[in-house]
Amino acid sequence: MKEQYDVLVIGGGPGGYVAAIRAAQLGLKTALVEDSALGGTCLNWGCIPTKSLLKGADMVRALKHMSTFGLSADNVQFDLSTLVQHSRDSAAKLSGGIEYLLKKNNVLVVRGYATVVAKGEVRVKSDSDESTFFSKHIILATGARPKVIPDINPDGLNIWSYVDAMTPSKLPASLLVVGSGAIGMEFASFYCDLGVDVTLVEVQDRIMPLEDRAVSVYMEKEYRQRGINVLTNTQLDTTANTSGGIQAKLRHSSGSEQTVEVEKILVSVGIEANTGNMGLEQLGVDLQRGFIAVDQWCRTNVAGLYAIGDVAGGPCLAHKASHEAVMCVEKIAGIDDVRAINKSAIASCTFSYPQVASIGLTEQQAKEKGIPIKLGVFDQSSNGKAIAIDEPKGFVKTVFDQTTGELLGAHMVGYEVAEQIQGFAIAMALEATEQEIAHSIFPHPTQSESMYESVLDACDKAIHH
Ligand SMILES: Cc1cc2nc3c(=O)[nH]c(=O)nc-3n(C[C@H](O)[C@H](O)[C@H](O)COP(=O)(O)OP(=O)(O)OC[C@H]3O[C@@H](n4cnc5c(N)ncnc54)[C@H](O)[C@@H]3O)c2cc1C
Repeated sequence: MKEQYDVLVIGGGPGGYVAAIRAAQLGLKTALVEDSALGGTCLNWGCIPTKSLLKGADMVRALKHMSTFGLSADNVQFDLSTLVQHSRDSAAKLSGGIEYLLKKNNVLVVRGYATVVAKGEVRVKSDSDESTFFSKHIILATGARPKVIPDINPDGLNIWSYVDAMTPSKLPASLLVVGSGAIGMEFASFYCDLGVDVTLVEVQDRIMPLEDRAVSVYMEKEYRQRGINVLTNTQLDTTANTSGGIQAKLRHSSGSEQTVEVEKILVSVGIEANTGNMGLEQLGVDLQRGFIAVDQWCRTNVAGLYAIGDVAGGPCLAHKASHEAVMCVEKIAGIDDVRAINKSAIASCTFSYPQVASIGLTEQQAKEKGIPIKLGVFDQSSNGKAIAIDEPKGFVKTVFDQTTGELLGAHMVGYEVAEQIQGFAIAMALEATEQEIAHSIFPHPTQSESMYESVLDACDKAIHH
C-alpha cells in the first residue's frame, strides 16, 4: 500500500496527536503512526495516571487530619487495587478520547512501528502488516523512555521503573527512590502517604536540583518531617537481591559507603530520547546530547523532517510538547503570525505534597547572569484561605529585574500551586512588571493572594507580613 500525505506524524503522545489534529484542522492530509496506546507516555504512563494515584494519597492524608474539621470515622478501608484500577481507567478513558478526536478530524491512524526509510518516506510495520507512506512533511514525536543506571536494570520485581511503581500489586514495606526530579518526588510522596518506609537518594547536593534553592531546602525539610529518609550527595552504586528484597550500596560524594536493605528500588534518574531504530542515522539527522537538534520552528537539519516534544529536548513536559506541535504545524501550513516558543517561560509542576510550581529564572540563575534583582517572598502560613482550609505549608517567591521591574521568575510551594502558576505564566508572557501585577486585584479569600503578597513584598509594600 502506498499513500501520499501532507503531514505524517510519528508518535501519538501530547506532541504527536496535537500536531495531527491541528494539521488536519488546517486542511492538510494527515496520518499519525502509533506503536502503542494513543496519548503516549503522558496519558498512559505519566501525567494522568500519577495524578489519579496522588489524589488517592491526598485522601488518605486528609483522613489523618479530619478531626480538625470535626470528622471521625471507624473502620476506614483502603484497597490498593481499586486505586490502581481507577488510575488505569482514567488513562484508558482519555486514550479513547484521543482516538475519537483523531477520527473526528479525519486523521488516518496507523498502528505499528514507523521507520523513516528516506526523505518523505515512512515504513510502518505491525504484527500483521507492512505499509509505506509518502509525506511532504514528517514530524517525529516519538517521546522518551526512562534512563537506566548501568547494571541496575528495572526488572519489574525488585527494581522498578515508573511503570512498575504505577501498578503495584501490593504495597512494599520499604522503597528506595533514586532521583529527586518531579517523578521521584511524586512517587516518594505517594508511597510515604500510603505508609511505606521511603528513602530518597539524590546525587546532587540538594533535592529538586533544578528548582530555586529555597524550594529544595523547604521540600527537604518537609519530606524529613514526613519521615522520608533524604540522602543528598549520594548515589546508588550496586544492588544485590536478598531473601526479603534488595540490598543497595550507596556512595556519598565524600567516598563513604552505606548499605540499605529495602523491598523495592524505584529508578527515576531522568529520560533519554526515543531516536533509535527509526532510520535517523542513515538520513544524517543531527542529535544534541541524545535529543534531536531542532531550530526554533522544530525543523531538523533534514528538509521536511521535524521533531517536537520530549524527543526534541527539554523541558520534557506535556504542555511543551503540545505547544511545539501547534507551532510546528502552523509554520508548515504557512500561517503568518506564528510565534517561536519561549522555553524560559514554561511552567513546571511537581504534584508532590506539598506541590511545587515554578517558572522562569531562579534567584541563583538570575545572579549568575549578572542581572540585578529584587525578590519578594510570602509564606503561605500567613494566607487566610490557607489557614481556613488547614493547608498552610509553603511560600511564594518572585524574582524581578531591579532595573526594568520585569518578572523574571516565580517559585511556589503549597496547596494546589500547580493550578496557580499560570497567573505568573501570563504575566511573563506579557512581560509584566511588579507594578503591573501589583495593580491587578486578586480575589479573596484565595491562595493566589500569596502570589500578590509576594509581588508586594518585592515592592516593599507587603501588608500581611
Ligand atoms: C511518571 C511520569 C509523570 C509525568 N508527569 C508529568 C506531568 O505531571 N506534567 C507534564 O507536563 N509532564 C509529565 N511527564 C512528562 C510527559 O509525560 C512527557 O513530557 C510527554 O508525554 C511528552 O510527550 P511526547 O508527545 O513528546 O512523547 P510521548 O508522550 O512519550 O509519546 C511518544 C509516543 O510515540 C510512540 N512511538 C515512539 N517511537 C515510535 C515509532 N517508531 N513508531 C510509532 N510510534 C512510536 C510511543 O509509543 C509513544 O506513544 C511525566 C512523565 C512520567 C514518566
